[in-house]
Amino acid sequence: MKLSKHFSWLAPYINLAIPHIKNLYLLKRISARSPRKNQVQRCNAMTTWTSEGDYKITLYRSYQDIESLKPLRISITNYSKIDILEYLAHELAHLQHWEHTTDHKKLENKLHSLFMNRLKREGYVSEEESED
Ligand SMILES: [Zn+2]
Repeated sequence: MKLSKHFSWLAPYINLAIPHIKNLYLLKRISARSPRKNQVQRCNAMTTWTSEGDYKITLYRSYQDIESLKPLRISITNYSKIDILEYLAHELAHLQHWEHTTDHKKLENKLHSLFMNRLKREGYVSEEESED
């Protein structure tokens, strides 16, 4: 599986998902994307079923914030590790349950919980900037 260098830190998390997703071997690539200033960002992540019969996951590294409409001013902020792991859990769960069913959400929650346990063990501290 090809993992974007921007997301190399996700490798141990993907390993945690192995026992829970039978189709994980069909995931051939995880790529990184950033929103553009002149384009509306429509999602934070997506899973694509490719013409070769395997899966590709695209994760955004950052998101747009509209700071002003007139004149249009958009700022771009990096997602936190917690956010990215939440999106990864959601997309990985699609490999097992393609539709947004309760089974999909339950698997997403299970993966996210495993991910948060590992992140906590790594000594994660919040990436939010303090307001003062
Ligand atoms: Zn989804």
